[in-house]
Amino acid sequence: MRTPFVAGNWKMYKTIAEARNLVSELVPGLQGIQGVERVLCPPYTALLAVRALLEGTDIGLGAQDLHWEEAGAYTGEVSPAMIAELCQYVIIGHSERRAYFGETDETVNRKVQAALGHGLIPIVCVGETLEENEAGRTREVVARQVKNGLERIDLGDESWSDRVSSIVVAYEPVWAIGTGRAATGVGANAVLTDVIRPSLEGLYGTQFAESVRILYGGSVKSDNAAEFFSQSDIDGALVGGASLKASDFIAIVQAAVG
Ligand code: PEP
Repeated sequence: MRTPFVAGNWKMYKTIAEARNLVSELVPGLQGIQGVERVLCPPYTALLAVRALLEGTDIGLGAQDLHWEEAGAYTGEVSPAMIAELCQYVIIGHSERRAYFGETDETVNRKVQAALGHGLIPIVCVGETLEENEAGRTREVVARQVKNGLERIDLGDESWSDRVSSIVVAYEPVWAIGTGRAATGVGANAVLTDVIRPSLEGLYGTQFAESVRILYGGSVKSDNAAEFFSQSDIDGALVGGASLKASDFIAIVQAAVG
């Protein structure tokens, strides 16, 4: 049984004051919804303020990226230990980081290992570009991103393997992100069923593949969320634009209630 999971990626939006306003609108609505893991991912600068407002709730907090090194001369970067002081989750390999900041499958893999090593739950993003989609390369690209991004994780002892199977994967076709042109529920589910779960199984076996939550992301709104959540392999959503308005995000989380 996989608990539904909905995360809001605020991207580079919301000052501290704006973040406080949004969270104060979100908390009452989200607190009333049970049975869905819900996570807010504000920019780094607002993490501390949001964390304070989430105290005493069961709403999770995530960062949007991290560096894989423990510490060092990496101006502008934030280490896994720094994130782990504030958050339980971290988004890794978002397509905007891949497109604009040189993120590769290799750096995604290092970040996943660093996150797990610090007790963070990684939300690992994969997805094909429009060009790759139109060239019929979706399956090949997504399988490669899953394999290369998640390989070489030592399943080790029991507590570690629990942590590893708490990994969340988000299938986010790049052409659907921020465009208003979402995939279809059936189309997205097929990528999960035919590509992502088998790739996870190939890496670490059936039990692992069956326990990982896989989200859909890309123009999820309150009026199309149910179409995704009704699919057999889609366990939730990574929401960008619609997570910036409390009523929209609350309605999406509500739609995820099994
Ligand atoms: C995202 O940023 O991960 C995303 C899916 O954005 P949007 O919902 O705006 O398409």
